Amino acid sequence: MLHNDQLDQWDRDCFFHPSTHLAEFARGNLPQRVVTGGSGCHIEDRDGNRLLDAFAGLYCVNVGYGRPEIAEAIADQARELAYYHSYVGHGTEASITLAKMILDRAPDHMSKVYFGLSGSDANETNIKLIWYYNNILGRPQKKKIISRWRGYHGSGLMTGSLTGLELFHNKFDLPLAQVVHTEAPYYFRRSDRSQSEADFVAHCVAELEALIAREGADTIAAFIGEPVLGTGGIVPPPAGYWPAIQAVLERHDILLIADEVVTGFGRLGTMFGSDHYGLRPDLITIAKGLTSAYAPLSGSIVSDKMWQVLERGTDENGPIGHGWTYSAHPIGAAAGVANLTLIDQLGLVENAATVGSYLKDEMRKALGDHPNVGDVRGEGMLCAVEFVADRDDHRLFDASDKIGPQIAANLLEQDSVIARAMPQGDILGFAPPFCLTQDEADRVVSATHRAVSAVLG
Ligand code: PLP
Repeated sequence: MLHNDQLDQWDRDCFFHPSTHLAEFARGNLPQRVVTGGSGCHIEDRDGNRLLDAFAGLYCVNVGYGRPEIAEAIADQARELAYYHSYVGHGTEASITLAKMILDRAPDHMSKVYFGLSGSDANETNIKLIWYYNNILGRPQKKKIISRWRGYHGSGLMTGSLTGLELFHNKFDLPLAQVVHTEAPYYFRRSDRSQSEADFVAHCVAELEALIAREGADTIAAFIGEPVLGTGGIVPPPAGYWPAIQAVLERHDILLIADEVVTGFGRLGTMFGSDHYGLRPDLITIAKGLTSAYAPLSGSIVSDKMWQVLERGTDENGPIGHGWTYSAHPIGAAAGVANLTLIDQLGLVENAATVGSYLKDEMRKALGDHPNVGDVRGEGMLCAVEFVADRDDHRLFDASDKIGPQIAANLLEQDSVIARAMPQGDILGFAPPFCLTQDEADRVVSATHRAVSAVLG
């Protein structure tokens, strides 16, 4: 490793950080942190700080930091065979084994796994497969994709379009024309406060039906959704939402993509969010938790129904024209095999369910009565606290007050706990590693309580 006291300057001068205010960072007005190590739920930086990471990186280091089992699997694979491609029938022991392990865990009707590198490219793959599928079925006009406002599906051209957050569209000429957005299942932010959960679900269904009628069902190929909205605010759906939405999709012959980049492999306390909500998706997107981010790897899990048509397509047209150099990269695959093995061995899905629910309950006890806390919600090892200027009418704070970011900054500075100020609204998000202990959950809650009191009184 190159040690150089110019590192901070090189960081400002040379490194293009994603999702960052570029000018403020270059001017030195945004803090920088060089992360050097990690163990369990903690990371360390080169200034000697040890921080409790209650967001598991970007909700991805699910097994926690510093697991030697995964590091050794990666090193062994690199020594044995760092790379070979997976085109035209090639594979490695790791990639084939991982595909089998994924299908053993996925809903029964899923048939094959296509490997990529990121959640974004996996969703790009999904859209291409859906377009291919409808072309093979002889309905070339059935191509539009419905996504939800506040959904997050990546930041590529198509996936950035699917993402329903303005920050990801503005000045990028997105969304593309093939994408249409519908209501988010965000009960707390419903516009008609008199609606019950059931009324609100009926409203979401009516909005979807109206959109389909407007666009024409014969032009709509698929609906994409995260089982629980993630980056859009960590919002579990109201009871009955998914069965009602699925019924509409089935009636109009619209495919369902379950984007399980965050929820896949245990975050909701079940192996998949699809199990949790009884979804029957045609495609499932996986990434983050597949390797716990020890190496970049993603996947599209393809249902049997779609697979039959893809096979037919290659009989009619020759090999499928879709592939990445690094599809099923052996090092990522080796990390995936070790990661899924570890999750089972340590019972981490169960821990995500029990400690996650403890975290949410304690957060509610600590903050539920605060006059500026509108909502404390979560599912499995996901939790969010939403702040409001007024609890009665759910009025938002002025965006320029930056309440969410202020609280996250205070939490970090005063108590060395990392939570995420979610990008839209004043929402503090928690998505700790699944190995979080009850003591660590207590620490997160008491630190959050202190930070909220410091900023809001
Ligand atoms: N889908 C969901 C639900 C995500 O949360 C993310 C990233 O946070 C993505 C897709 C995109 O994944 P990536 O950042 O690996 O491209």
